[in-house]
Amino acid sequence: MDLKSNHASPVLTDPAPINKLRLGIPSGLLALLPHSQPGALFSSSKYVTIPRKKTGMINDVRSNGWLDAMKSSSPPRKKLIKDFNVEAALDDADIASCSWVLKYPSALSSFEKIIDRAKNKKIAIFLDYDGTLSPIVDDPDRALMSNEMRSAVRNVSKYFPTAIISGRSRDKVYELVGLKELCYAGSHGMDIMGTLSHSHVSNDHSNCIKPNEKQGKDVSLFQPAREFLPLIDEVFRTLVENTKGIKGAKVENHKFCASVHYRNVDEMNWPTIAQCVHDILKDYPRLRLTHGRKVLEIRPVIDWNKGKAVEFLLESLGLSNRNDVLPIYIGDDRTDEDAFKVLREGNRGYGILVSAVPKETNAFYSLKNPDEVMKFLNSLVTWKHDQTKSVIHRRSIE
Ligand SMILES: [Mg+2]
Repeated sequence: MDLKSNHASPVLTDPAPINKLRLGIPSGLLALLPHSQPGALFSSSKYVTIPRKKTGMINDVRSNGWLDAMKSSSPPRKKLIKDFNVEAALDDADIASCSWVLKYPSALSSFEKIIDRAKNKKIAIFLDYDGTLSPIVDDPDRALMSNEMRSAVRNVSKYFPTAIISGRSRDKVYELVGLKELCYAGSHGMDIMGTLSHSHVSNDHSNCIKPNEKQGKDVSLFQPAREFLPLIDEVFRTLVENTKGIKGAKVENHKFCASVHYRNVDEMNWPTIAQCVHDILKDYPRLRLTHGRKVLEIRPVIDWNKGKAVEFLLESLGLSNRNDVLPIYIGDDRTDEDAFKVLREGNRGYGILVSAVPKETNAFYSLKNPDEVMKFLNSLVTWKHDQTKSVIHRRSIE
């Protein structure tokens, strides 16, 4: 399967969320935005229209919380203890950690409980990439998954529908994972490709399109933010140009979003990089800022995220609105919280947060690091394999 994009494809768009924090714009301007309709997830709809020339409407980075958000993208242990209201000495982080694990138990120690619920159900697996399948490293280009992890993901996909949902471009995450048998959702779910069944998708998804012959006849493409491609490309080039003087800054084009990594930027220069991105974004009211782990991400103002991508994939795989399906989503980032929330609502499935430190989350369970993710995936494979074997054995003696 060739996962290169087809740039001539139509797209489905959705209204923007009315959320001043997500938009990063002041409340006065919000009044100009159309409201998101309940149930509008899969409806054909209009783009958000925001007047372009409204200078001075976005506050300085120091007053609008950008810097605070940048600092909290990797919160110190002291802060975490305070957040969780744990009555512990400040140097007694272990107690805080234990308390957190009680609230979000390890998916490994809770494995029996998870598979107990999965009995007679079809499990669907959704996996983030960075920090989940690969370690977090200073250079995003070197965030490689191990062969053992690749083999674990391959084995999981033999038994369960499996999708990777990443903030990276779809082409890049496919290149890093390299498994043809999976669905891939790049750019936080705004660029989905996989063997999606059109028959299961509602009429409003009619602009799910078929890529060209080279990409495989069974493969479909869904790009809800396609119209934004030129805009993202333009802002990417401006970001590269304007941040080139900031040592350690790295700008990436994820096709439907652009990201500015400040992991390697001296903390003294964080205000400079924040101001730079802020100043550029002022000229792009149809784009918004989100905060990842030591990364500022610029995305289209549309009501689409990893949670919507999970719902879309479940629908297109014929797995939505069914009691016999258990979706499991594993991720480590703030952007994964949208997916955790979707699964938590209505008790549909399990979100598993990958984190070595306590964090507030919508997930049900936790895993400490990618090694534990691999153990969990291998446990699922072993369980399913044994289950399948015992069913075959039972049938043979009947
Ligand atoms: Mg991640």
